[in-house]
Amino acid sequence: MDFSFTPEQERFRHEVRQFLEDEIRQGAFRPQCDGWIQGFSPEFTRKLAARHWIGLSWPEEYGGLGRSNVDRFVLTEELLRYGAPCALHWFADRQIGRAVIHYGNPELKQDILPKILSGEAYVGLGMSEPQAGSDLASVQTRATEDGDSYVINGQKMWTSCARYMNYVYLLARTETDPKVPRHRGLSEFIIPANLPGITIRPTIDITGTEAWGEVFYDNVRVPKTCLIGEKNRGFYQVVNQLDYERSGLERLMGNYPLFEAIIEFSKQTHRNGQPIGKEPFVRDRLARLQVEFEVGRLLTYRVALVIDEGRAPNWEAAMAKAFCTAFEQHLADAATRILGLYGNLIAGSKWAPVLGMAPHSFLGSMGYSLQAGTTEILRNVLATRGLGLPEA
Ligand SMILES: Cc1cc2nc3c(=O)[nH]c(=O)nc-3n(C[C@H](O)[C@H](O)[C@H](O)COP(=O)(O)OP(=O)(O)OC[C@H]3O[C@@H](n4cnc5c(N)ncnc54)[C@H](O)[C@@H]3O)c2cc1C
Repeated sequence: MDFSFTPEQERFRHEVRQFLEDEIRQGAFRPQCDGWIQGFSPEFTRKLAARHWIGLSWPEEYGGLGRSNVDRFVLTEELLRYGAPCALHWFADRQIGRAVIHYGNPELKQDILPKILSGEAYVGLGMSEPQAGSDLASVQTRATEDGDSYVINGQKMWTSCARYMNYVYLLARTETDPKVPRHRGLSEFIIPANLPGITIRPTIDITGTEAWGEVFYDNVRVPKTCLIGEKNRGFYQVVNQLDYERSGLERLMGNYPLFEAIIEFSKQTHRNGQPIGKEPFVRDRLARLQVEFEVGRLLTYRVALVIDEGRAPNWEAAMAKAFCTAFEQHLADAATRILGLYGNLIAGSKWAPVLGMAPHSFLGSMGYSLQAGTTEILRNVLATRGLGLPEA
């Protein structure tokens, strides 16, 4: 058992850190919580692309660098540590590009992969619907074959990146025969987001941002080459993609800038004549968080190793996400309590400590245990796939 990184990985981590510190020094971005999901910067995405840091672990034949997933996690760990704005390319880099490489037809590969690699394709994720969340097999949006096209009708909600995306990944029903089991009638597509018939309505979420949206499809005609993989096999493909969606360090480190800031705050801020870091409550909470953080990091790097071994990270990803999102909720709760009443002030208020990050994280963290599979669903995965218990 070897818990250390290779010298090459350490060198790479150092290179990424230096790049990010230079970027911050030059004012390219300010570290933010949830930068991977709410930080939209075309310039920054292009800079990462220029360094080939998008598609780092894709095979070389598709334009990637063919590096390991541990390498990719080293990169994403540093991007998250510095709160970099990565939302425009995150989903395509993490899962959609991979799905196209694995299942896509030659035309689709030729069209979309270079755009992802160059940081031009901003892909949103459109799976959930008003009546289809945990039970994804109940998706109702339809894609009906018509000559060389599919015609799409329906409504999605919680589509990530909706306001900024120029491509959207979509799960739709392609088989409507009621005798066919629901999960055998779905297919995956990736389509331009500006086609006639697509209407995007931003969702203002609990934190006040518009990072997600509702997307309406009204007779949207797309060429058949937009289909990812086999018709009616979409459910099986998406289940595999969800393992990748659940497995990254973003489930642990989305609020790392707050974690660092609250530790620093506890050292620097005096209450009753002493640093608040001397108060037993503060020490206890921060020490517990550090233990959780280390455990979450190990669980997450295990996922990278599983992927590098060529296995799908199924229950390992479920375990990591369930544990890590709980850490993020504990962090937000601890930060709010340590900061006291001023900690409720949002960014922009001159009295807000730690740049007002705490209320953002407190509110945002409510969704972490819902998105990409709720914690209850993940525990079901663990119970059945991990422990071998019978299906409920
Ligand atoms: C902030 C945020 C971001 C999101 N981002 C995206 C995105 O980018 N793309 C996208 O397509 N979707 C996205 N979603 C949607 C998300 O995937 C769904 O909200 C989630 O899967 C839960 O579905 P639901 O909301 O329909 O709740 P339901 O599925 O109705 O669940 C309601 C409750 O019942 C519990 N439950 C349901 N089934 C079971 C079961 N079998 N056993 C035990 N408990 C169960 C759930 O855990 C939950 O507590 C996002 C959601 C949020 C909140």
